[in-house]
Amino acid sequence: MKVFKFGGASIKDAEGFRNVLSILKKFSGQEIVLVVSALGKTTNALEEVVHSYFERNGNANQLLNEVREKHFDLLSKLIPDSSHKVYEELNNTFIEVDWILEDEPSESFDYIYDQIVSIGEMVSTKMLAAFLNESGMKTKWRDVRDFIRTDNTYREGKVDWKITEKKIQAQLVPASKNGLVLTQGFIGGTSENFSTTLGREGSDYTAAVIAYCAGAESVTIWKDVPGVLNADPRYFSDAKKIDHLSFKETIEMTFYGATVIHPKTIKPLQNKNIPLHVKSFLNAEASGTVIDSDMNDDARTPVLVLKPEQILISVSPKDFSFMAEEQLAKIFGMMAKHRVKFNMMQNAAISFSFCADDAKERVNPFLEELSNEYKVLVNEGLELLTIRHYDEQTVQTQTQRREILLEQKTRNTIQLVVRRF
Ligand code: ADP
Ligand code: ASP
Ligand code: MG
Repeated sequence: MKVFKFGGASIKDAEGFRNVLSILKKFSGQEIVLVVSALGKTTNALEEVVHSYFERNGNANQLLNEVREKHFDLLSKLIPDSSHKVYEELNNTFIEVDWILEDEPSESFDYIYDQIVSIGEMVSTKMLAAFLNESGMKTKWRDVRDFIRTDNTYREGKVDWKITEKKIQAQLVPASKNGLVLTQGFIGGTSENFSTTLGREGSDYTAAVIAYCAGAESVTIWKDVPGVLNADPRYFSDAKKIDHLSFKETIEMTFYGATVIHPKTIKPLQNKNIPLHVKSFLNAEASGTVIDSDMNDDARTPVLVLKPEQILISVSPKDFSFMAEEQLAKIFGMMAKHRVKFNMMQNAAISFSFCADDAKERVNPFLEELSNEYKVLVNEGLELLTIRHYDEQTVQTQTQRREILLEQKTRNTIQLVVRRF
């Protein structure tokens, strides 16, 4: 069995759907499990619905209607016959959200978020399954919540590997034996049948979970780039494709913030030695990037990773004592509690500095608690630049128009917290 994953960019419009069909045709007759994300930027739009619902600003229904209209608009281009049962299925899924919005929010934000945001993948996969079947490609739609079991850490569901593996072996593997199986990325289900999400951009991870549990021969994620490049082309104009990477190098790259693959994707694949192909959905014949256990030709040229929207927080005890273990344990405890994701840290005698993703909804309550006990200094609007396999010239070029606030070097990696002039 092969696992294919198509992200939001690949199915953002009718042309995208047709392109996915044409790629799948090249593999007809093979056992393929297809993992699919929500259309385009739907997840962002659904996040807006949730925020608006909790802010009680009266816009939630309108925002939801916009999402609904976009879906029906696209559906009518794919399947013009509005008596097709997919229309009713889509309608019913959106109505579930209407029901949530009817009442005042009484459950936790994260729980409601998952119940609402998860419908993006439910509707996109229903549309794609109907479209493929109508186009003559026999496709079985499966609800991923029936076999990816998570705990109830909403917005960051932790996979229960044992149960998930059992269910995938029992349900998904047999289904894939004859024809294409299509399911949702990004979401899972709890033991009580509630929806969870696995963290933003989590569909790559879903593909890896399924591949691991099914013992798949390979995973291919189809992207809007030719493969993994040595830098994000959005920030670096001369980025070049890397033909081959080891699991180890890829884990490092994604850990530091290369968003082309979700960082949790690689470990399960590495564990079962399942190769990962990153290929362009715009040029399916091109070779893309192969990621496997072979470390012989790992990139020796510099690899640049830029994390925008960073905050640098410097903490020192109010009583002029040293920044010792006890203090650090307390600070890490607060970080974990508020789910603040730090990306780099450095400590000195009486201060501890770290750079974190500046997600206000998490960082603000964290800073508030932190300031009760410590003197806190904050620098916002920063970037974290990581250069793997760095050399003098690359560092110089990259720091030309940037002020460096914090720097850390190991043999292979340099990390710089910078402000752009
Ligand atoms: P998906 O459609 O699967 O959600 P994403 O948009 O999440 O795809 O990932 C593809 C994007 O990742 C590219 O458009 C590119 O801007 C970005 N990216 C970041 N780092 C890299 C890199 N090193 N190589 C290629 N693409 C990268
Ligand atoms: N649709 C989800 C998101 O945008 C998951 C994914 O695309 O991987 O975060
Ligand atoms: Mg994505």
